[in-house]
Amino acid sequence: MKKQIRIGSFFLILTLLSVCFVGCRTKSGGTPPVTEKLRVVTTTTFLGDVVGIIAGDVIELTVLLEAGQNPHVYQTTPQDLVKVSKADLIFVNGLGLEEFLDDLLDGIETTAAVFEVSEGISPLEVRDPDSEHKGDEEQDQDHKSEKLPSSSGEDPHVWFNPNNIMIWIDNIEAVLGENDPDNNETYRNNAAAYRSEIIQLDYWIREQVAQIPPENRKLVTDHTSLNYFAEEYGFEQIGAVIPAQTTEAETSGQQLAELIDTIREQEVKAIFVGIDYDSTLSQRVAEETGINLIPLYISSLSAEPPAESYLTFMRFNIKTIVDALK
Ligand SMILES: [Zn+2]
Repeated sequence: MKKQIRIGSFFLILTLLSVCFVGCRTKSGGTPPVTEKLRVVTTTTFLGDVVGIIAGDVIELTVLLEAGQNPHVYQTTPQDLVKVSKADLIFVNGLGLEEFLDDLLDGIETTAAVFEVSEGISPLEVRDPDSEHKGDEEQDQDHKSEKLPSSSGEDPHVWFNPNNIMIWIDNIEAVLGENDPDNNETYRNNAAAYRSEIIQLDYWIREQVAQIPPENRKLVTDHTSLNYFAEEYGFEQIGAVIPAQTTEAETSGQQLAELIDTIREQEVKAIFVGIDYDSTLSQRVAEETGINLIPLYISSLSAEPPAESYLTFMRFNIKTIVDALK
């Protein structure tokens, strides 16, 4: 009886050994290992376009926002969670634009590194015009703490100045090259070619805006979004229907009345509104002042032409601004 068990065990061990041997042989003799592409996630459609141009198809690129989606109100989906948790690298605009990503990153385990492409850009401040009046009013702490978040602070709309895109290109090229040295040459070549397109865009914008009489270079928008463009090309953002760097802030009747006065006094010619945003309030201001509402692409590319890439986005918007103000 004892002997039988021993013999049984012997055969069992032999069988296990041979299974292992066959298994091991199959593994080592299989197809050669496939080099995995770097998995990169970006947030906005602008970033998706720029990263895609620099990397081509040597990375696996996922863009979280779709064309037409407003990053100021974006809510992440369960699919975003999956995409982010699989990423090796995450490129974000930064300057407070991607508030939606904070909770997502807190809620998952990921080894992905998050890079702000706007690092190195001098951020412009958006001031809440209401805070200028607060000196005359009671300055109690309670009143201060009621102030809405994001009504003033750093302006995230850096993409309205192509010179800022040059900084994005430098940052993206460097980070991709560090994380994927095998494809460094691809990144370098693509980045160099794209830089010359951005330089041409900048020249073209200067030619275009020269058609606008200097006294007409005044911008009123639905929310404060054209500061970087205004600063670079000699315009003044003189007001916004929602005087904040997000579409999600609030405005008061007094602020709207002041904006209407400013538009009349300065003979502003148009109000520029995001093509995908609710323009009810801007519509009221336009009716009150008798000026035109002009749609622009502000916070997203379009799925189809005319603004399906960063370059066409800028050309469309600048043409529209020039036609409205010249
Ligand atoms: Zn915005």
